[in-house]
Amino acid sequence: MRYESAIDFAAVEAIDMHVHYETDTCGHHSMPQEYIDASAAYFKGADRMPSADAIAELYRGLNMAAVMFTVDARTQLGHLPNSIDDLVAAAARNNDVLIPFGSVDPRTGGDAITEAVRQVEELGVWGMKFHPSLQGFDPSDEQYMPLWEKISELGVPALFHTGQNGIGAGMPGGGGIKLRYSNPLLLDDIAAELPELKIIMAHPSVPWQDEANSIAVHKPNVFIDLSGWRPKYFPESLVRFASNMLSEKLLFATDYPLLAPERWLADFAELPIKDEVRPKIFKGNALRVLGVN
Ligand SMILES: [Zn+2]
Ligand SMILES: [Zn+2]
Repeated sequence: MRYESAIDFAAVEAIDMHVHYETDTCGHHSMPQEYIDASAAYFKGADRMPSADAIAELYRGLNMAAVMFTVDARTQLGHLPNSIDDLVAAAARNNDVLIPFGSVDPRTGGDAITEAVRQVEELGVWGMKFHPSLQGFDPSDEQYMPLWEKISELGVPALFHTGQNGIGAGMPGGGGIKLRYSNPLLLDDIAAELPELKIIMAHPSVPWQDEANSIAVHKPNVFIDLSGWRPKYFPESLVRFASNMLSEKLLFATDYPLLAPERWLADFAELPIKDEVRPKIFKGNALRVLGVN
């Protein structure tokens, strides 16, 4: 099953660049892991685990497209991700609204490169998602450069979780999770060496927002997705630069199902961001990142 988009990009009002098709691999949100586990059990089958068809229905109703992905952290977590092939098949049968991104575990070495090629060329994914803290790797480490080179060659964007995350919070040693791997400055090395590779820094990069702003201003190939935080809690510098230095760099994104688009939109409407910049954030910038003309 190969994904081919049937999205009418002229008609949709926005593209949500960050939606999870499963909820247990991106626990960077506020709750400690035991609470996430508890709530996952509690909400089983309900809102915390929407089906891909339910996700599609939500975005269809909002007249939006959505980028959907999981994270392959098999080395760090010791278990396989949910099937990327299934994820792509689900996006394919909802190809009027959904866009699949793939994911590979960089710590699997050459296999990661082979799998990235398969996901892009055979499955038709439009980008690749990474989570350095959850996957347990330093993106600036030279050993991963061949993977970034290959993704650049494949011509799809790479999206990286940045900033703090809730996984392991409160556990001894934070569950062994290293926060510094999600420092956006580690991505600046990749951006400098591979100017053709489009890099999306996911989330306001708390506590490194100034670093993220600097990179996005300095590197034409680096973007910021606005997911994971209610806009009312965005760092002040991010909001201040949104209307000027970062107007071409910010991407509407929610982190659904962990943050509902309706709530994000209501908050965002209250921010002091220029009206002429809003359409860029909602769609224009995403079209450039995704390579849609
Ligand atoms: Zn994340
Ligand atoms: Zn996320």
